[in-house]
Amino acid sequence: MHCYRVEPGQAAQIAARDTRDVQGFPGDKRAGKARIKELNAQLEALQEVLYAEGKHKVLIVLQAMDTGGKDGTIRHVFDGTNPQGVKVASFKKPTSSELAHDYLWRVHNHTPGSGEIAIFNRSHYEDVLVVRVHSLVPEHRWRRRYDHINAFEQLLADEGTTILKFFLHISKDEQKARLEARLDEPHKQWKFAKGDLAERELWGDYVEAYEEALTRTSTESAPWYVIPADRKWYRNLAISTIIVDALTRLGMKYPDPEDGLDDIKIE
Ligand code: AMP
Ligand code: MG
Repeated sequence: MHCYRVEPGQAAQIAARDTRDVQGFPGDKRAGKARIKELNAQLEALQEVLYAEGKHKVLIVLQAMDTGGKDGTIRHVFDGTNPQGVKVASFKKPTSSELAHDYLWRVHNHTPGSGEIAIFNRSHYEDVLVVRVHSLVPEHRWRRRYDHINAFEQLLADEGTTILKFFLHISKDEQKARLEARLDEPHKQWKFAKGDLAERELWGDYVEAYEEALTRTSTESAPWYVIPADRKWYRNLAISTIIVDALTRLGMKYPDPEDGLDDIKIE
């Protein structure tokens, strides 16, 4: 799955990447789903020891175009983990109080504490994406944000946070199909926002904004991964694999028990 990493200092090259790529897994969808089950069990075990050890912090950032699959990723990849140690923060249009502060103010409060996994469903990256595409602040202001973001994430990393950032990469055709499904299926209509159509017209502007954001902010401490996301099973598999690998590398262990537990008899 290493091929999906945006190497620090190199262009993300989003447009050149295949949204249907499956080269990271040799099997078909059925085999893929079986593998995801195994990865779910591994992640469940890793999250338990992360929580018990209480040493490391883990931040997962999810960004995508509309319908890119952020919600489905959270549901499937973290299936089976303990809600006590996993928290999701969804970043919507800023409130007036949030807008009255710097753009990282609302974000910092949701970063993970020791032993926790925090999942960002959208993030501070909106402040160089939607904000850029819609000129919500002047260019000279959003342009300085790449440096702020790198410094902010370096601070989190220096203080013990493992950061993994995922761009769920779908094609424009796949978005069309998913928007149509939202219109057609009564249980999905709540997700359809007419505003998404206006955003869809700005597809090229968003690709440009993502390209620069990922290129400028993929670092050793906080790398970006461009995940082929037209196939949901493959998206889940790729993200699960990358998270499990990263958590395994932390070499976590359960805290040593107190001395003398062997002699204890509970009356
Ligand atoms: P959804 O993810 O469908 O619930 O939509 C959330 C909306 O909030 C999206 O349209 C985002 O672009 C928007 N949003 C999130 N963060 C910001 C931000 N910092 N500035 C402006 N809009 C934002
Ligand atoms: Mg939406």
